[in-house]
Amino acid sequence: MISTILPTYARAPLTFVKGEGSWLVDANGRRFLDMAGGIAVNVLGHAHPALVAAVTEQAGQLWHTSNLYHIPKQQELADKLVSATFADTVFFTNSGTESMECAVKMARKYHYELGAPDRVDVITFENAFHGRTMAMISAAGQEKLTKGFGPLMPGFVHVPYDTIETVAAAITDTTAAILIEPIMGEGGIVPIEDAFMKGLRALCDEHGILLIFDEIQCGVGRTGKLFAHEWSGITPDIMAIAKGIGGGFPLGACLATEKAAAGMVAGSHGSTYGGNPMACAVGSVVMDHVDNVEFLSEVSQKAGHLRQGLEGLVASHPDIFETVRGTGMMIGLKCKVTNTDVVKAGYDEQLLSVPGGDNVVRLLPALNITIAELDEALSRLDNVAHKLKAAL
Ligand SMILES: *Cc1c(COP(=O)(O)O)cnc(C)c1O
Repeated sequence: MISTILPTYARAPLTFVKGEGSWLVDANGRRFLDMAGGIAVNVLGHAHPALVAAVTEQAGQLWHTSNLYHIPKQQELADKLVSATFADTVFFTNSGTESMECAVKMARKYHYELGAPDRVDVITFENAFHGRTMAMISAAGQEKLTKGFGPLMPGFVHVPYDTIETVAAAITDTTAAILIEPIMGEGGIVPIEDAFMKGLRALCDEHGILLIFDEIQCGVGRTGKLFAHEWSGITPDIMAIAKGIGGGFPLGACLATEKAAAGMVAGSHGSTYGGNPMACAVGSVVMDHVDNVEFLSEVSQKAGHLRQGLEGLVASHPDIFETVRGTGMMIGLKCKVTNTDVVKAGYDEQLLSVPGGDNVVRLLPALNITIAELDEALSRLDNVAHKLKAAL
């Protein structure tokens, strides 16, 4: 008999009842060190006092009005995002995939309004991940996402992440935009090289097409910059965010320049919940903490410490781990043994991590995790490696 919850998730046999900072506690009081971070969501850890206060205060005031009316917390968060980024304007959503939907609709409308309604195609990269709606599985194109769900949506052209010439060759007079994750997340933590990022910007400028970044996983301080693309020195025309911005409350956003957003007017797009007072009250406090030079430099410092420890771990366990890659607190540990075995062995050590593509184990901890906790994670990973080696 089918479970009462649609069985689309392969869940670990773990149930948590409480969270404190970088720790999750199960019903038996066992404490797990959380290096999964709710898949890059819990940027300030669990039950952060400032987030608890923000959500509690808002809950006693007003939960929801819809976008029929002005929402002061939404305005506040939009102003913070605009002042901190390339963007001039923001559309709020409840998830990453919805932020991406807005981005693609906006890109098409941009060209339509410019008198080029045939410019509809978005160039995307193999092994990318942009969410689970029909359009976003079509955008990513990987068989593991699309199989059985056809017909897929037209309007996406898939290219490998290799040279800029490959991308250039895919541009035609129906191309509307290029879409990329500055660090591919689900694909196994693959950072896009700065030169490639710059090359994409140049191609878009040359052809009058829009550059869209999916920073749903890599954004909001995760790499030690507020947004990952800042490392490359270029900016997009449109950017989708989610995950970290809500700190655990469902919240996403599509950010854009005034030029790219020119086609979006009253009635073009909408969402009942998007930018709701509860979500924006939390998002606004997340921004106050993360959009801070000291906070971000601490993220980089701590990430450097973690990185060094992981390099050591790879060196001492060459038959278990192959390499470490990623930026900041977005780390991929490429495994020689099956990555899901490493994640599972972690559960026995009360350590949480996330499997990713290319046989990678992802470490996506809270950005305010301490050095002592990172050392604890390294020590537990060392135990995992010893146990797996003994079983080889
Ligand atoms: C998680 C993720 C998404 C989808 O976000 P949802 O909130 O699950 O809809 C899209 N793109 C990237 C890069 C992601 O990591």
